[in-house]
Amino acid sequence: MIQAVRTSVDWNLLADQALAGQRIDHQDALRVLQADDTEILAQLAAAYRVRHHYWGNRVRLHFLLNAQSGLCPEDCHYCSQSKISSAEIEKYPLMAKDRILAAADRAHQLKAGTFCMAISGRTPSPKTFEQVLEAVRAVKADYPMRVCTTLGLLNEDQAQQLKAAGVDRINHNLNTAEAHHDEICTTHGYQDRLATVQAVQAAGLTTCSGGILGMGESDEDIVNLACSLRQLNVTSVPVNFLIPIEGTPFAGRSELTPQRCLRILCLFRFLLPSQEIRIAGGREVHLRSQQPLALYPANSIFVGDYLTTAGQSATQDYAMVRDAGFTLEAPDGSPLPENDG
Ligand code: SF4
Repeated sequence: MIQAVRTSVDWNLLADQALAGQRIDHQDALRVLQADDTEILAQLAAAYRVRHHYWGNRVRLHFLLNAQSGLCPEDCHYCSQSKISSAEIEKYPLMAKDRILAAADRAHQLKAGTFCMAISGRTPSPKTFEQVLEAVRAVKADYPMRVCTTLGLLNEDQAQQLKAAGVDRINHNLNTAEAHHDEICTTHGYQDRLATVQAVQAAGLTTCSGGILGMGESDEDIVNLACSLRQLNVTSVPVNFLIPIEGTPFAGRSELTPQRCLRILCLFRFLLPSQEIRIAGGREVHLRSQQPLALYPANSIFVGDYLTTAGQSATQDYAMVRDAGFTLEAPDGSPLPENDG
């Protein structure tokens, strides 16, 4: 019997399946990534149907603070803060509470709904952990923002303490597919990362977990990463595009085009229909003038800078969102008035 080979996909059919709660077929997922550039508007339109169903035209704003930088004993090849990186970055231990509060104030002024506090390192020392708890309590007492922390590997007890201090969500990225993880880090494994996400969920906290694309992974790896995040039922998914920072093992890598980034975001929307999908690090570098198109599959952005690299200004971000016909979301979930922000 001759089997029919499907050479093209009706992207709207994938949107229908996503909206019906069905997982799109693995081969169709690969086709999303391997489609011709001329398909991109049709893919975006289909992904937008799913995005609009769950999120309307709202764009959520997050603010990221690197509260402790560099000096990390791990060897994540993409990271400028690792022990094997010679990148010229600022290195400092955990910021004092008043500096963290000043950053939270800045986040609040920028209308961010979520204040994300990251620290470098494999896992926080007991002293640092206590200081983080104290800082979280102070931020929650003063600002009506969700607080998300990125602290490296955590166990359930630590997650419970963070929850009790007022943390709303913990970020820990799977980063890439299990099959590719050893190519990007040797000091901890994919299973360590998975265990942290599961510990956070066991503590009753919502999880933010995503990946970094452009690190030599295959299309299969990208599909598997998105499927793993779907299986974990994470709440929020940051999609980072590798910034090949000079001094890191991944310096000079160049695998991404704006269209490739858009296809990846469409795939994530089809596989993670209701999740908060954030265009994270590398947005400006890789999407460039096509950034507004990424709002069709994604519903969230960082406003301000990334961990060790600068983002475009908040003013430019607000203008981009509004010019593209989307609405900024205020911290309470309501639309931010046009004259605000
Ligand atoms: S990603 Fe985190 S754990 Fe890995 S090197 Fe950077 S700071 Fe360390």
